[in-house]
Amino acid sequence: MTRPVPPAAPSKIPATVVTGFLGAGKTTLLRHLIAHANGRRLAIIVNEFGTVGVDGDLLRACGIDSCGDEDIVELANGCLCCTVAEDFLPTMEALLARPQPPDHILIETSGLALPKPLLKAFDWPTMRSRVTVDGVIAVVDGPAAAAGRFAEEPLRPGATEHDSPLLEVYQDQLAAADLVLVNKSDLMDPATLARLHREIDSATARPVKILATSEGRVDPRVLLGLDAAAEDDLAGRPSLHDALGNHEHNDFESFVVDSGEIADPAAVIAALEALATGHEVLRVKGFLAVAAKPLRLLVQGVGQRFRHHYERPWGATEPRRSRLVVIGRSGLDRPAIEQAIRLAVG
Ligand SMILES: [Zn+2]
Repeated sequence: MTRPVPPAAPSKIPATVVTGFLGAGKTTLLRHLIAHANGRRLAIIVNEFGTVGVDGDLLRACGIDSCGDEDIVELANGCLCCTVAEDFLPTMEALLARPQPPDHILIETSGLALPKPLLKAFDWPTMRSRVTVDGVIAVVDGPAAAAGRFAEEPLRPGATEHDSPLLEVYQDQLAAADLVLVNKSDLMDPATLARLHREIDSATARPVKILATSEGRVDPRVLLGLDAAAEDDLAGRPSLHDALGNHEHNDFESFVVDSGEIADPAAVIAALEALATGHEVLRVKGFLAVAAKPLRLLVQGVGQRFRHHYERPWGATEPRRSRLVVIGRSGLDRPAIEQAIRLAVG
């Protein structure tokens, strides 16, 4: 009698964590990865700071056959780093429990999320046995970083310590990375790019691969299959928040401005650009319903740089409404911002 062959130990499913500050180009990178998946079954977890998810919507609208709606899980309303036990672990467990689990899991964290608490979750016994962190990819907005957007801020009046929340998030994201993508490099001259490359290199404790990209166009073979097993190297990825044990995101806030159809999108975008100059708005994104246009207008702004294009037709049952998510430093003058947008909406 032959003895039954014991089942082979299941190999771990690789997961890639994509981090990077607001507007760095994480969703664009994910879209590129999905488009070039080459038959690989991907599952995507997308996390946003605001209460309304825009990125998940953009990924679902990718129109790529291999990527069904059920493969994209949206976790909005707070950073993943704060909701590991409530949101992230149950989502992962549900993905792993599928009859056909994914070949690779991509996790897009919110721009304000700290990667370390998420990486720690992969060290939990239930996760360790099934999943491994293939790599942490930090996407950097090259022109913004080179312009000193993530530098230490001047001492505020009456303060004894520097309060530089953008720098803290940026440093934590770089410190966790296996690969740093300097995105939007097409907008940078070679000398500036080289200087930023050196700055990032000296900001990371471990040797980290740094690549210049634009529009997130990178060969998936470069991004996936890093085999980093980051969960085994948590100590090598120091966080400014390690000593605290917990962290908050009090330095940032977000709200949504809803309206109906608009007549003049140029006026709305001009108003948004003016707001980015006058207020500490870090990120604006959303969709506008433009009168007489069958497609919805995607609007994305980071700092003073705004882009927009007609993205996809409104669905038959989808309400034609305009909706913008505004993210900024805490203390935003919300009434003034809302009023300026409403005036432009007309
Ligand atoms: Zn958090």
